This record gives sequence, C-alpha cells and structure tokens, in this order.
Amino acid sequence: MKHFLLLIGLISLIYSPASAQDEYYFPGEIFSADIPKPQDFLGYEIGEWHTRYDRLIAYFEALAAASDKAELQVINQTNQLRPLVVLIIGKSDHINNLESIRQKHLQLVDPNQPKPDVSNMPSIINLAYSVHGNEPSGGEASILTAYWLLASQSEKAKEIRENAIVMIDPAINPDGRDRHTNWANMHKGFPPVADPLDREHNEIWPSGRVNHYWFDLNRDWLPLAQVETQSKIKWYHQWYPNVVGDFHEMGTNSTYFFEPTKPFGSENPVVPRKNYDQINNKFAGYFAKALDEIGSLYWTKETFDNSYPGYGSTYPDIQGGLGLVFEQGSSRGHLQQSQRGDITFAFTIRNQLKISIATMEAGVKERVFMHDYLREFFQSAIDEAKKDRVQSYIFGDVYDASKNKLFLKLLLDHGIQVYENEKDISLFGVKYEKGKSWIVPTVQPQYRMVRTMFEKVTEFADSVFYDASAWTMALAYDMPFASQANASMKGNRIEKIKDSELRFPTESPYVAYLVNWSDYFAPKFLHQIQQSGVHVETNMLPFSALTDDGEMEFPAGSLIIPTGFQSLSSGELRQVLQNAAQVSGQNVYATATGLSKSGIDLGSNNVSVIQVPKVLMLIGQGTSQYEAGEIWHLLDSKVNMPISKVDLSSFGRVNLFDYNTLILTSGNYFSLSAGQINHLKDWLSRGGTIISLRSASQWLISQSIVQESYLEVERKERQTEFLPFTSRRDIQGAQAIGGSIYLAELDTTHPLGFGYRRSELPVYRNSSIFLKPSADPYQTPVRYSADPLMSGYVSSTNLEMIKQSASTLVSSVGRGKVIHFVDNPNFRGTWFGTNKLFLNAIFFGNKM
Ligand SMILES: [Zn+2]
Repeated sequence: MKHFLLLIGLISLIYSPASAQDEYYFPGEIFSADIPKPQDFLGYEIGEWHTRYDRLIAYFEALAAASDKAELQVINQTNQLRPLVVLIIGKSDHINNLESIRQKHLQLVDPNQPKPDVSNMPSIINLAYSVHGNEPSGGEASILTAYWLLASQSEKAKEIRENAIVMIDPAINPDGRDRHTNWANMHKGFPPVADPLDREHNEIWPSGRVNHYWFDLNRDWLPLAQVETQSKIKWYHQWYPNVVGDFHEMGTNSTYFFEPTKPFGSENPVVPRKNYDQINNKFAGYFAKALDEIGSLYWTKETFDNSYPGYGSTYPDIQGGLGLVFEQGSSRGHLQQSQRGDITFAFTIRNQLKISIATMEAGVKERVFMHDYLREFFQSAIDEAKKDRVQSYIFGDVYDASKNKLFLKLLLDHGIQVYENEKDISLFGVKYEKGKSWIVPTVQPQYRMVRTMFEKVTEFADSVFYDASAWTMALAYDMPFASQANASMKGNRIEKIKDSELRFPTESPYVAYLVNWSDYFAPKFLHQIQQSGVHVETNMLPFSALTDDGEMEFPAGSLIIPTGFQSLSSGELRQVLQNAAQVSGQNVYATATGLSKSGIDLGSNNVSVIQVPKVLMLIGQGTSQYEAGEIWHLLDSKVNMPISKVDLSSFGRVNLFDYNTLILTSGNYFSLSAGQINHLKDWLSRGGTIISLRSASQWLISQSIVQESYLEVERKERQTEFLPFTSRRDIQGAQAIGGSIYLAELDTTHPLGFGYRRSELPVYRNSSIFLKPSADPYQTPVRYSADPLMSGYVSSTNLEMIKQSASTLVSSVGRGKVIHFVDNPNFRGTWFGTNKLFLNAIFFGNKM
C-alpha cells in the first residue's frame, strides 16, 4: 500500500494533473509536467478568450525554452512589426540537426542529385493557421497542437515526434488576426451573447480577414505582393514540406470541410492527377476518422476552389507536396447561434485541433510514400517538359528596366531558373535585346511554375469559378514574351538581380533635364522631385532632343524639368534630381537647347505643367476594402506617395477644393446626402478629377454626375426552357465573370497611355459591368480588341458584351474629368501592366 502511494506521488511529479480543459480537448491523455500548460501560462482556458498574438508568441517561446524538442524561428516581421515565426517540433536529435536534415530533404527536389534513402527521413509537415485573421480557431488550435505534440505521452504523439519535423505557423496574418482578436475580446459579454446580430459577431471595415494593406493573403502565394507571403515563400523553398495544412473558417451554419475539393473544375491544370486521385483520398480517411471520433459532421468534394496557385492550399500542390484546405464553421466570437444550436469558440478549436493531429498522423504514416512522391513530382516535371512543344520562353521589355527587375524577382522567388539572353532577336514583331531580355527553359524542376507564369488557358472542365480562372503572370506584368520550340542560346544563369548603372548628366549649363516616362518607377521619381518643390512639365506630343548623350526620342508624357522657372538654385536642383534618380532607378538626360531636332520644341503650347496630385480616397463601410488596399499599397510601395484615406461617414467634413483627385473604389455611395453630392458636382465641374473603379461608375451614372450608359445583356421575356432545380447553381455560376484576362487596345497618344510603347495591353476583368464606349471618339483610351479573350473562362454571352464595351473611358464634366476603370487595374497588387494606367490617371487626369 505504501509503495502504491509513493508511486502515485512520483507520477504526479512527472505528469501534470488533468484539468477541465484537458478533459474537453484531450480526454484520457497523460501529459509531461515539464511543458507549461496553455491555461497556466495564459491565465484562461483555450476558447474562453481570443489569444493576443504577443501572448501566443510568448507561449511558443516558453515551449521552446522548456523543451529540447522545440525551436522557435523568427523568419521576418509584418508591416506592423509583429514577428512571423515558425515553431519547429521533433525529437531532440532532429532539432539539433535541422540543417543536415534540410539538405538531405532538398536532394529529393533536385532530380540531378542522387535520390537519398527515404526510409529514415522524417516527414516535413507544415501546419499553417489563420491566414484570414478573423478565422481565429486555427491560431488557438496551434497552441493546443504544439502543447500536445511536446507534452503528450501517448504513442501517437511519440510516433510523430520520432518521424516528423512539424513546423507550426500560428498565424500567417498576425496583423489582421490581432485586429479581430481585439474586436472579439472587447465585445465579449458575461455571459456571452449568441445573437448573430450582436456587435461581437459583426466586425467593422476593414475586417480582420486582411493584412495591414487590406490584402487577402490567401490569394498572394503567387503574386507575392505582401511581406508575409514573400517571407513564407522564401521559407517554403528552404524546406519543400511534404504536407501543408491551411486552416480556415466559413459560415456559422456550416459544419467542417476537408479535401478532396470539387473534382476537375476546381483542380489546377499543372498538378499531377495522382495528387487528386490518390493522395487526397488517402488523407481524407484520417480526417474522417478524427471527426467521427468526436461526432463532428463534415463534408468533402462539393465545393472549394483549388485551382488558383495563389492559395496556401494549392501552391504546395505545385511544389510536390500536398496542400490541404480545412474550413470550420465559425463561431465568429465566443458563442453564436447556428441552425444546429449555439456554437462555442472551443467547439471550433477542438475540430481544428483534431484535424491538426490527424494531419500529422497521416503525414507520418504516409511518410515514405510522400517522400517518393516529392521526388517523382520533380522528376516527372523534367520528363514532361522534354515532351512539351515549348522548350523555352524569352521575355524582356526594352523600355522598362524596373519592370524587368520586378518580374525577374518574381521568377527567382518561385525557384525558377532564368538565364541571360546572349543575342538580339526579333520574334512576332517584338525585339528582345541582349542584356534586356532573359531565357526561361521549360526543362527544369520548376517546369510547372514556368507554365503557371507564362501559359494561357482557355479550355476548362467546368464553368463555375469561385475565384480567378486565369493567372498568367507574364500578362499581368504586360511583359513582352514568346515561346520557343528550342531551348535557345542561353548565357549565364541569373543568381542575383544586378543594379543597373544609372546615368546622370555631368555638370554644365542646361536648358532642361529630361526623363522618359516608360520606366515603371518614373512616377516615384516624379513624386519625389515634386515634393522637393521642383517644377515639372510634360509634352503632349513627341520630340527628339540633342542631349548630353546624343540625339534621343522623348515620347509624349516625358518629364521636362526646365532649369529656369525653379525656386531651387541650379546646384540644389541637380542634387534633388540626382537623389530621386538614385532612389527610383531612373536615367536622367539634359539638353542645352530648347530647339528640338524633330517634333515640338520645349517651349511649345503642347508642353504644360504637371500639377502636384492631392489625392483623397473614400473608404469605409460599403466600399471595397480590397480595391482601397490595392491603391494604398500601390501608392505607398511603388510611388512613396501619401494618400488621405477618408471614411465615408466623414465626407461631410471634407472640403474637396483642398484636393485635386478623388478616388472612388467599388462600393455603395448612397449614404452621401444631396448637399454632399452637390459639393462633389461643383468641385468636379470646376476642374476636379474623379477616378472611379467598377461599380462606383454605376453610382456616378445613377446620380447623373456623368452621362454614360451600360450595355444590357438581352434576356428572354419569359423562360421557354424548363431546367432541373439542382442545375440552377451551375448554370447561374457559368454567367459570372470570376476573373479572366482580355486583350485591350490602348491609345498610346492619350495621357492615360503615356509611357506605354505598345498598343496591345492585357487587362484583368472580374465583373459583369459593361460600359458603352464614350460618345466622344477621343475618350475611350482602353477598349477591347475584336478577339479579346487571352486566358481564363468566359461565357459566350459575356464575351460578346465585352467585345462591344469599354475597359477604360473618360467623361468630361465642365472642366473636370471622370476616369472610369471598368476593369480593376490594380488587382492583387500584381497588375504592373495596368496599374501604370492608374498612376497616369493620378498625374495626368486633368490633361485628358
Ligand atoms: Zn479563410
């Protein structure tokens, strides 16, 4: 008896006693007492509160300090300076040898290296949570998952620690997550309020879904516009995980979703069938078992898109791993009514926890299979590429060094091999110059990413798209490119992007400095010198000038900086220009005469001052947070220009005459009063510029602020055909424009087209608004070509409407202008081909 008591005493020293929390999340489990329990560390049970990100990180630090089986790596920080971390868990022998494990794992993804013996290699499993910040059950589940994996004495936990390296990313979007955390916590009632209308369950604008710049990070894995995703992809290519879990939430009345996603239509065309046909079903068995054990319901297959490579659950599928999307019906708050009764936050966390454990279990059980698959994936990429009729792509824009660099960086960030082009060639009327163009062979391990960047797709297995049906990045960048049937002469491989040598005129008396507007960062240069008080002019017609570097062409829209008419001394002017040129990477030229070699002279009436933009954007409830965020991010990151973001509810305090440009994103402006609308009309007619995106133009038309009109799709008076009720969703879905790429014709002589050298311009459309071209023959600078579909799905009815409509048009109202962008020029921060149009609207709006 005495011995028995002593034994109990010992156990209680080593193992921590079970709590109510353990009973709910981990019934019957025994935990090591060495590892701090979440509730002891945080001061509440998981599910009682939303855990602040700094507390979550502090707990992970405590875990790493308490255990030799865990290491916390900080990979970067967010815009708001929150650390982006990965908590790595495995047996101590693995944790101490991470670099050698990584090197061996990387041999699998390189078919040129001998295949290592995979029988003893640990599975690399990445659990990534709460990319949408207001889907918080994942982040809370990450706390319990990490605790369980380190502290549980179960055979299952031991097997995972022995055979896997688990990398936990507790929140891909910490800034958005904290926004929602504070929202949910500040409205928490005692007792909690389940009424769905309670403020706790209804966030204000901007929601926690998005990051600092109001971007959806679960669309950013391909474009890499945001720091969180840039850091994640860098880390990704260091590890190539075998399995990636991507944890989300959906509507409160839904149960749980795990893959497989909807067959065919939602699958990515470059991913091997084996992923969809075999592996997904294999893993689904583990998830079903985990939820069956606790009686949670779920569904598979019916929904969710898995085709767009910018999702966190699709990108891994294109990198030889298995990406898995999980969706939990949200309690959005601590407790909320649903059709199945009240859902608690803890209930949603428990489902995510069970699925996290099942993901690790499956990753370990299928470890050898998944390693073999990873190898096979990259080997088959080479084999398939050899059979492709395209053996290489050549690309490069001779007029835009900055955009070339941005595109090169994108390719290198995705692990694509790129080579210098050694000789000048012309293909399909486009010149590719040595030093300004590059070669991408298709025969390389990242063959499938090469296709993702360059291939146009117009044939689909399905016609209902949850999101984009096209993502050809070369078109988004308006990058001249051509496919070639041979591997082409290629020079050195590009390892690092070199800074190009900039030129600046030597000191000498000049009449004017001259800068071309073709380079992507020319607006950044312009903004910086305008801020320094430099007077800048532009030419509406082209000229050629004798410069310090010989005779040069200056197309319309070039920057002319006369040395007279400046408040700065000539020395100060040189200093300001030189500094701005360095920062923005611009070449500056100068001329000693106002007399041009050809075209207009510098003092022509066709040369006029560029006004300093003073931009106000209306934001807030009812407007598109994505479009507003894209504009804010564009001006911050590409122009370094501040923009006043004014809430719609504050519009009554705005004096528009303090600004010259007003941006209206898609949204509902019906809350503006008659007096406010009159103020807007008055300001506009006296010379203001409105830049209107998509549905904002519908509001302007409805208020008779502009006189434009729509094209209406002709509908039959009465339906003559009877259709099964169950087909309703698919047939209606096929008429939506989910997002596809069209060829437009750009008038490069129009101020909106300044800086462009080609009239063909790919545009991105994801709306069904069709505006008629302007009645003024000069004011539809971007219209669709006769055969516009370049990539993506569109119904034949919609395609006909697109052919007859305008992509961008300008309305004149008194002395003011309204520039309508029917297509989103700034889509996802990656449409460098068209966001230049948007910047032209800001700088040259009053010249249209
Ligand atoms: Zn989500």
